[in-house]
Amino acid sequence: MELRIDDATRQKIEAARELGEKEFRPVGLEADRNAAPIPVGHSFFDRCIERGEGRTQWRGPNASGESGARRGAVLTRLLLSEEFAYWDRGVIIATPGPGLPENNVLSIGTEEQKERFLGPFVEPDKPRWACFGMTEPGAGSDAAAIATTARKDGKHWILNGAKCFIGGASRSDWILVQATVDPTKGRGAQRAFFVERGTPGLGGFNIEKKMGLKAYESTSFTLQDVRVPEANLLGGEARYESSAGFKTAMRTFNAGRPVIAANAVGMARAALDESIRFAREHDLLAKDRVRDRIEAMSRMVRKARFLCLKAGWLAEEQRPNIIEASMSKALAAQIAQQATTIGLELVGTIGGRGDHLIEKLYRDVKAMDIVEGTGQVQRMIIARSLVGLPR
Ligand SMILES: Cc1cc2nc3c(=O)[nH]c(=O)nc-3n(C[C@H](O)[C@H](O)[C@H](O)COP(=O)(O)OP(=O)(O)OC[C@H]3O[C@@H](n4cnc5c(N)ncnc54)[C@H](O)[C@@H]3O)c2cc1C
Repeated sequence: MELRIDDATRQKIEAARELGEKEFRPVGLEADRNAAPIPVGHSFFDRCIERGEGRTQWRGPNASGESGARRGAVLTRLLLSEEFAYWDRGVIIATPGPGLPENNVLSIGTEEQKERFLGPFVEPDKPRWACFGMTEPGAGSDAAAIATTARKDGKHWILNGAKCFIGGASRSDWILVQATVDPTKGRGAQRAFFVERGTPGLGGFNIEKKMGLKAYESTSFTLQDVRVPEANLLGGEARYESSAGFKTAMRTFNAGRPVIAANAVGMARAALDESIRFAREHDLLAKDRVRDRIEAMSRMVRKARFLCLKAGWLAEEQRPNIIEASMSKALAAQIAQQATTIGLELVGTIGGRGDHLIEKLYRDVKAMDIVEGTGQVQRMIIARSLVGLPR
């Protein structure tokens, strides 16, 4: 594995550090204290737009070449994901932009869909969001069990079902909703549909109560006879012969695992630095048992970062990375939980009061083991891949 960080990437990480310290950490702490997502009208979002954030990688209908395919882009993204999560992982997700479904639209959306749904994110006039609605009350890890139905009616599709824990759903311009055209036919019958805000039948938005990552909303909603034009079927009908529909969703997750791992590494590193700061402030560095804990945390952070970068490097080289991507996600999430637990023990009773950064990190990291495939599911994927079984 060959890893090089060029000057441009170093500058980006340095800028992320400054922005994280000045903006992400304070706004994340504010949301945590308020126990509510950053409100849509918060000035933080306006500043994001002023700085040129919240944009799509899509360069418009007349752009030449691949969007965002620059050599080193994957590793840069991982390093930035680590740095921003160090300051506040919840704020990363709260930040405006086309979010999780963007890659799906870029890779299989029609040109008309890119223009219609990513176009407003090229130079957004205001903070805009989009999100990916996959999880349902009865379909989390087993995504093939999705029960939201899509029925063709002339030149429209009619959607019915319920989704839960969808990041940013109530504020999104559109939601990419995963649904099935025949619940008896499993994965091959799944398709993804653009459902725009305000479409009749889309409603029942309810922001879930979360133990951590409070800066962004995780929202449940219902679809009751939601009618969308056939042009809203991602990729068009031809895409959905065989099992391409389910693969659409899985593609998103495969690309995302090393990013989640990088987030977890950043959070573990934040717990490490905060522990060192606390130990120094309280004259604890002379104690072997305290230094032992700091050494253990530091070793864990480095181990997780190396595996995460390996997964990213393989992706950069366009080599299979399924095992490394899943391993890095499973390991980094576990390590972040261990590191924040050690940090919480180190700060003692102060950590139990509910207003210490390590206590917040301890609550925030649990979700890293859940989102985009739980730790158990990652281990299942790794084991099946190792012995040559289908995932
Ligand atoms: C903060 C947060 C944000 C989220 N954001 C989104 C989002 O934006 N969009 C979206 O679509 N979803 C989102 N989700 C949902 C997330 O993807 C699901 O929570 C996740 O897939 C797990 O599903 P579940 O909660 O239904 O748990 P279940 O699948 O019911 O699993 C429960 C437990 O059983 C274990 N388990 C399940 N199957 C197996 C198995 N075969 N072998 C061994 N153990 C197993 C799991 O690991 C878990 O511990 C979010 C969740 C959280 C917590």
